[in-house]
Amino acid sequence: MEIGSTLRLGLATCRVNANLRQNSRMMPFFYDTHAHLGYPDFERELPAVIERAKAAGISKIISIGTDENSSRNALKMAEIYPDVFAAVGWHPSDAQDAPEDIRPLLRELATHPKVVALGETGLDYYRLPGKGNPAAAVIDDRYKAKQLSLFQQHLEVAAECGLNCVIHQRECFEDTFRVLAPFAGRVRGVFHCFANDAASMQRVLALGSLVSFTGILTFKNGQNIRDTLAQTPLDGFMLETDCPFLAPVPYRGKRCEPAYVKEISVTAAQVKGCSLEQLSQATCRTAEKFFRNLA
Ligand SMILES: [Zn+2]
Ligand SMILES: [Zn+2]
Repeated sequence: MEIGSTLRLGLATCRVNANLRQNSRMMPFFYDTHAHLGYPDFERELPAVIERAKAAGISKIISIGTDENSSRNALKMAEIYPDVFAAVGWHPSDAQDAPEDIRPLLRELATHPKVVALGETGLDYYRLPGKGNPAAAVIDDRYKAKQLSLFQQHLEVAAECGLNCVIHQRECFEDTFRVLAPFAGRVRGVFHCFANDAASMQRVLALGSLVSFTGILTFKNGQNIRDTLAQTPLDGFMLETDCPFLAPVPYRGKRCEPAYVKEISVTAAQVKGCSLEQLSQATCRTAEKFFRNLA
């Protein structure tokens, strides 16, 4: 009698568990692997932003630092919110304000258990202080040299600490690739907000690194990026918003937030010709392997 009721109870529990699994399968979850939650855009309503992400099935968010303050702030948010993680680093566009040797700071921040990667780091030739004017070439060269030095220091510390790097590159794919290449096998990079062609994507993957795609995927004029994604293997990319920038359609032009990974995922699944469940499994697994302590 007792054994029978235990059995019945056991079966009922099994059924409840199966139903729960069924329900969680109904809404595929995704991660926002690149968000700037520390931007003033979110200051007043961060709990609501995180709540909306959760409601949209975006179960983990990586907040990205761009200098010392924003990196420390990302860590603070990661301490408050269980589903928020942090990448710490110094953005190439802010290179001028960075110390010459950023390694002690990176080493210190990297010890935090919720740091999942270093970055964002990399190179950006889009906004040069001399605006590309030949008369200002010396200023631009000095600026580029500082970016290069900081990028190399991020990679060096990443190799030391067993972390990977979130890489920003704009109008300088070749230079960025050249700096990362010697670290292959020790550090992996994710070329975030990827907007280059399929041949470049294949070279990134050949290094053991990854690419990630933003809301630009959904833009009418984003066909070149959809073409690159179409050729990217399902286990070679991740999804991100880069919020508060780059809100996907139908929010284009408005402030972006992590919940909108949902819209990005719908377009990505269409481009890949796969189900949202398959996309969820592939991109989340890729992120869990790439980012330390995310799983
Ligand atoms: Zn970036
Ligand atoms: Zn960013």
